[in-house]
Amino acid sequence: MEDILRIGIDDTDSKRTMCTTYVAVKALQELERAGFRRADYPWLIRLNPNCPYKTRGNAALCVSIHAEPANLGRIAAIVSSAVERWADLESDGTDPGIVLAWKGQAEGLRDIYWRALREIIDPAEARRRCEELGIRYLVIKEGRGVVGAAAAAGADPDSLRTFEAIAYRVPAMWGLERRVDEKSVIEMDKSLAIFTFDNYDYEKREVRITPHTPCPVLAGVRSITPQHAEEGLKMVRFLEPVDFFEVFKTNQAEDLHYLPARICDLLPNGSYAVRGIVVSKPAVKPGGHVFVNISDGTGEVTLAAFEPTGSFRRVVEQLVVGDEVLAYGGFKVKGPAAAINLEKLAILRLAKVTVKVAPTCNLCGRRMKSMGRSKGYRCERCGVKRPEQKAVEVDVDRRISEGIYEVCVSARRHLAMPLRIVSFLRHDEHRQS
Ligand SMILES: [Zn+2]
Repeated sequence: MEDILRIGIDDTDSKRTMCTTYVAVKALQELERAGFRRADYPWLIRLNPNCPYKTRGNAALCVSIHAEPANLGRIAAIVSSAVERWADLESDGTDPGIVLAWKGQAEGLRDIYWRALREIIDPAEARRRCEELGIRYLVIKEGRGVVGAAAAAGADPDSLRTFEAIAYRVPAMWGLERRVDEKSVIEMDKSLAIFTFDNYDYEKREVRITPHTPCPVLAGVRSITPQHAEEGLKMVRFLEPVDFFEVFKTNQAEDLHYLPARICDLLPNGSYAVRGIVVSKPAVKPGGHVFVNISDGTGEVTLAAFEPTGSFRRVVEQLVVGDEVLAYGGFKVKGPAAAINLEKLAILRLAKVTVKVAPTCNLCGRRMKSMGRSKGYRCERCGVKRPEQKAVEVDVDRRISEGIYEVCVSARRHLAMPLRIVSFLRHDEHRQS
């Protein structure tokens, strides 16, 4: 009986080289060469971006193929030899994991997927779960990658609603500077504006489709449809050869990693959405980082907008005590310092800010003058005096409005939903919390 096999792969790359998307595509190509048919686009699964073990973007991969149970051993051999051939096994911290789960079994890994988006999961737990479900898994070296591999194989298909078309470099170019025509990226971004996202950071004037690491990826175009992802990639003028390209189905840009939480429940390296009231004046620290404290009644936490988040910091700087906000980001603890590193901020309610001004004279109607702090007012023309309590409260223009604000494109997490595509992707029915 033919079934669908989900093959999760993770932790094949290092800071030095390689990319798990490349290894997964190579494995898929080998499987196709051996006669297996793909059952879907390969899945590019982003996991908790605040995980301290991640190499870069914390991505795991899953390739799905049509297969019969009798072929499992042969498939495992093909995939593990591709991983052994392409993974950067010489680097410390590259600890690949491979999980081979039939479609029905993979559903038993779904909660691992949801949790791995927001927490850190112990590899021992992922192994134990695979064993309980009778799922074949392989680990190389320390095998920390078994967590991401299990999460990718168990990914909820309903949460995969965006795409990325990735072009790869010929091996001779790996490690060399990427040459892409910047103007063509801007043209593509403008012409496919509502379908693709995060192509270009206009604030920092920076191409965002190319990574800055010595990996085999030349560029990736993210989109809400596979057609526009591919079209976007083809509109870019590359000044070097493209080896091949592949379209991935992804969970990027869905805000899936934020777990609504109370301040007293925050754990280090978790990704959260926390609602609270501003209780301190924003402080701008050396380097341009902005900090402000909020409280939700269960505790107090600092929100941090670091320099790379760009003009987003101007919004945080404008907050005042009493503003109600919903803060999105990773909770980081470094020694005695702890903060939510802001990725996005919703201002739910702006506090009213007023200033006292002098009353008007009831005889001549002119604005009266203060006679000094708490000493009341006097009309310079009529000589009429009025006590301090007669001062008038006037609303101050806040210069920011209620609404949602995001960090600049170059500081954005892969999982964070760009405001530009919110209207296309905002469906909350499958969200788990
Ligand atoms: Zn007067």
